[in-house]
Amino acid sequence: MSTTPSNHTKAQPDTVALFVSDLHLSAQTPLTTAAFLDFLARYAQHTQQLYLLGDIFEYWAGDDDIDDPFNHTMINSLKSVSDQGVKVYWVAGNRDFLVGDRFAEASRLIRLPDPCVIEMAGEPILLTHGDAYCTDDVDYMQFRSQVRDTHWQQGFLAKPLAERKQMITAMREGSRAAQREKSMAIMDVNLLAMDTLFRQHGVTRIIHGHTHRPAIHQTESGTRYVLPDWDLDHAPHRGGWLEADLAGGFHERGSWHVVAIE
Ligand code: MN
Repeated sequence: MSTTPSNHTKAQPDTVALFVSDLHLSAQTPLTTAAFLDFLARYAQHTQQLYLLGDIFEYWAGDDDIDDPFNHTMINSLKSVSDQGVKVYWVAGNRDFLVGDRFAEASRLIRLPDPCVIEMAGEPILLTHGDAYCTDDVDYMQFRSQVRDTHWQQGFLAKPLAERKQMITAMREGSRAAQREKSMAIMDVNLLAMDTLFRQHGVTRIIHGHTHRPAIHQTESGTRYVLPDWDLDHAPHRGGWLEADLAGGFHERGSWHVVAIE
């Protein structure tokens, strides 16, 4: 009979949860991808829960693209985190909302609805990607309701993969051109919509991404954490995450500087 500690016993995790979003990863962003893989190995493997809050991928053409070498690497890296006993949660972004069961199963991640309320240290926290609350951007909201429609998605996914990728390229170019015409205020979340969200769900903390305007906003309704976007392939380099520690505290990690977008 051995009295030595079982080697199945995991070391006490360093943190309760990490929240990250807006990496916009693709094969065209090798340095950002490397930084994310480093984040997974150094930090995500040593937490209890990892929350991916949308736009982890620059685009997702459909789960039949999981054999693409880049996607394959990402799936294996995410899987290796959950293989360590970390719960990995996924909220879809406006770039990667076509992620489905096949991807989720291969990556061993748990998909959450947007918005959703989780509990941490007895406190409810609302998680969302954030794009659904950019209600001042009427054109975007119209586009969003089109592409989030089940029939539209079924029709899109029925097209050949190569055709879908071409359509996505065209949509991304259209979105970039449209963004240049819009004011920064229009592309931010609507503050009334956020106040409503706090009240409707009875939460005092909201964590979201999407706007690429990292900040911690203390308002009368509660605290709103806006996660940073990542880009190590283009200057200015940036990328960070939010950490929930074992004592119930929240900390900004990495770079949380707001970067002016051209
Ligand atoms: Mn987004």
